[in-house]
Amino acid sequence: APSMKKGPAPLREKLPIKHIVAVASGKGGVGKSTVAVNLAVALAMDGLKVGLMDADIYGPSVPMMLGLQNAPRPVVDADTKKLIPHIAHGVKAMSMGMLVDASSPMIWRGPMIQSAIRQFLEDVDWAGSDGELDVLVVDMPPGTGDAQLTLAQKVPLSGAVIVSTPQDIALIDARKGIAMFEKVGVKVLGLVENMSYFCCPGCNTRTDIFGHGGARDEAAKMNVPLLADIPLQAEIRMLSDAGTPVVSARPGLAEAQSYRALARDV
Ligand code: ADP
Repeated sequence: APSMKKGPAPLREKLPIKHIVAVASGKGGVGKSTVAVNLAVALAMDGLKVGLMDADIYGPSVPMMLGLQNAPRPVVDADTKKLIPHIAHGVKAMSMGMLVDASSPMIWRGPMIQSAIRQFLEDVDWAGSDGELDVLVVDMPPGTGDAQLTLAQKVPLSGAVIVSTPQDIALIDARKGIAMFEKVGVKVLGLVENMSYFCCPGCNTRTDIFGHGGARDEAAKMNVPLLADIPLQAEIRMLSDAGTPVVSARPGLAEAQSYRALARDV
């Protein structure tokens, strides 16, 4: 599009954040939020100061995944006039879902998204008293529409991680995601293949529910690294729903190790 500019528009102030990493996907339901949450907690487990910004305005799931769904609305600090983020599992979190009633439908238009981004980045006290964040993980809205493009352009991103299942249709969308970030000059750090396979806990048989190796091939084709492949695992889903991310709740599991490795790679 002719209006597309390279690089982010200037924000009002310098953000107290060293690196901002987007977790994105071409379509919904592939496990993007699960990856974002576990990545953020894994980074915090490595001793980094970490924030998680839930920008998935269509279905904010970060509060539930961090066990914050019943937390009070974030308050504004009297001195700084900034919103104080909640802290869960060592991560400072802010979500659209914490600011609006979960049952009210949200109709978002371009300008509203822009002001929401600005508010999330500038009007949240990410640093607090413990100094600037090392990493802010951004859970992007799924897809490659205007809202996503605006985010990719306006947020000063250090890089993006793309989540996909091994299925062809998901990978086609993942490819669009990679192209979108490259177009606006954001480095694609790599691809995460989620729901990669299923290992039956009863008989130990492995089933490639969505096919196998698709993301690996796609990553090679797109010339980006495959950062992790994470199986479809009931425990990941159950622990997510319980607000206790697998990476910290079951650190011994192979999947938890995969998230730890992902945190070291990004
Ligand atoms: P997205 O953010 O892409 O819409 P979510 O992260 O919300 O996707 O995941 C969708 C659903 O799938 C959630 O219920 C989540 O717990 C579950 N899920 C995600 N990844 C896995 C996995 N590897 N194994 C089992 N369930 C998963």
